[in-house]
Amino acid sequence: MQEAQLTFFGGVGKSGGVQVLYGKGKQGLLFDFGVEHSSLLFPTQVTLFEPVNATPGRELRQFLLGGMTAPLPELYDAQQMEGLDWAAVRRVWENREFPDYDRIHLYIGHMHTDHMALLPFAHPDLPVYMSHDSYSLFRGMVAGRHSKDTGAKITTCDDLTVVDFGEFTMQVVEMDHNATGASGIIIDDGTHRIAYTGDWRRQGKHPDKIDRFIRLCHSKPIDVLITEGTRLTSDPSTVPLQITEEALLASFAEIVREAEGLVYLQMSPRDLERMADMIAIAADQGKSIVMEASLAAVWHTANREGLQVLHGHPALDVPVQVIDTTMADGIEVPYPAVSLEEVAERKPEIVYFFKFPDLAHMIELETLGGPQGQSHFIQSDYSVKIEHAAVSKFLNAYAITGHSLSNGGHAHPEALASLIGSIAPKTVITLHSRFPVSQDTRGVKPYFPVKGETVPVSSILEAAASGVNR
Ligand SMILES: [Zn+2]
Ligand SMILES: [Zn+2]
Repeated sequence: MQEAQLTFFGGVGKSGGVQVLYGKGKQGLLFDFGVEHSSLLFPTQVTLFEPVNATPGRELRQFLLGGMTAPLPELYDAQQMEGLDWAAVRRVWENREFPDYDRIHLYIGHMHTDHMALLPFAHPDLPVYMSHDSYSLFRGMVAGRHSKDTGAKITTCDDLTVVDFGEFTMQVVEMDHNATGASGIIIDDGTHRIAYTGDWRRQGKHPDKIDRFIRLCHSKPIDVLITEGTRLTSDPSTVPLQITEEALLASFAEIVREAEGLVYLQMSPRDLERMADMIAIAADQGKSIVMEASLAAVWHTANREGLQVLHGHPALDVPVQVIDTTMADGIEVPYPAVSLEEVAERKPEIVYFFKFPDLAHMIELETLGGPQGQSHFIQSDYSVKIEHAAVSKFLNAYAITGHSLSNGGHAHPEALASLIGSIAPKTVITLHSRFPVSQDTRGVKPYFPVKGETVPVSSILEAAASGVNR
């Protein structure tokens, strides 16, 4: 019987791209399936300006040959890598031996590209698990053409569901992150318990979910804790605190209330709870909601799929109109279309859920319809900032006031230290971070894996117990 072991394919010493394979006996569980932010090709993200992309039709080959995803053929759709030279892929991983399991299950913690970019390339027989709301969001992303679809079989899990794989169980635990549905897992194989937080934060709307994760872990208790450490720097004491979601939404309400002209809002369509709150706040103040078509498709489809977190949310009853010129082939939304000319006639009544790089719309919206007061542009946790030259040029040209309303999706170093101290595992591994060594572990022994390493869980624990850190 093969003892429990971990293999680290991604997320080691880098931000994003967590790919860890846990296995015991003949069963394996890979958690997360994205690529690192700093890899040669970061997959298409709607927020990137002129992104360098993998070549359409050759994406999977390039991710594999680039060492950007696990070199295990059984994970992938054979059709999308036909003729691929696997000897070349193995050379990229220095011909290392990797564990051979009869069955690998895939768990995807949330719908950010650095955690799910490979999903469209998954083998049709690969059993994939994710939270119910992550799945609803994924359907929305496919409808809005923010992701390709997948042929893999997806099983959705309710919060706290325990999935039994025979050799071990996996419990799905909802967390708080700026991607709707984000969840961590707790693996229990009868001998060891391993907890993985996924991406998380305390400054969001649901710090109670983080407290609950800590309590659950504390009661097990946990042997190996795997957390993210995105916000760590070489000197974590200097990392600024971020505002709470509540304070952020209060600022949004104030800007919308004070705005005389049009309000442009650029936000991440993976954070549908914030989107819902902003829709409701704007509607409450008598504003009409206008959207770019792909954002409208994500919003409509995810809700049609039954997002649990928005059940009964007032935003679901707010009418939405779609800018006609943003309707692309294949995007279907049940909302009425509105033209830029019509919007320009009633600027003070509108909040426009805008998608970069549609900046050219401003030329028409700001010039037509006559002067109606100053417009505002709100950038809310989006990778293209208001300081971006392409954006600031437009804001200056039309005297549009820019606002940045962001609090990020990741835990402050102090929150990381507090979580580790409260869970008090035997050892902690910080992934999804460029500075894992900076982590204050509150006395818990850290373990620093290297990319491509396979290590028995018992060896990690022995290293922690003997005080030997790698
Ligand atoms: Zn991430
Ligand atoms: Zn994330």
